[in-house]
Amino acid sequence: MNIPVKNQPSPEVLCSNCKACCCRLEVMIISETGVPEEHIKRDSWGGETMLRLSDGWCSAMDRDTFMCTIYENRPWICREFEMGSYECKEERVEYGL
Ligand code: SF4
Ligand code: SF4
Repeated sequence: MNIPVKNQPSPEVLCSNCKACCCRLEVMIISETGVPEEHIKRDSWGGETMLRLSDGWCSAMDRDTFMCTIYENRPWICREFEMGSYECKEERVEYGL
């Protein structure tokens, strides 16, 4: 029997079933949290963002586990980004999750 789409349970939105979609976004560094120098990109005005590599992800993300390797020192914006939020779901949809 076909179950009407609206009655189907929606897949859970969890970081553990995601591929760190939000770690492909531009992340500005606006406060000092101790991000290691090698992960910081500076523009000509001194603005700081997390460095992204050619694959699109933040350089601090572990490519095998999709986990943040600098979790204790991650930027404020990363701390505020909420799992299951509108922005989170938008990113997941963009990458087909
Ligand atoms: S916050 Fe959302 S987009 Fe980011 S890793 Fe978790 S589930 Fe994925
Ligand atoms: S610092 Fe960590 S949480 Fe923030 S974008 Fe990079 S890998 Fe993701």
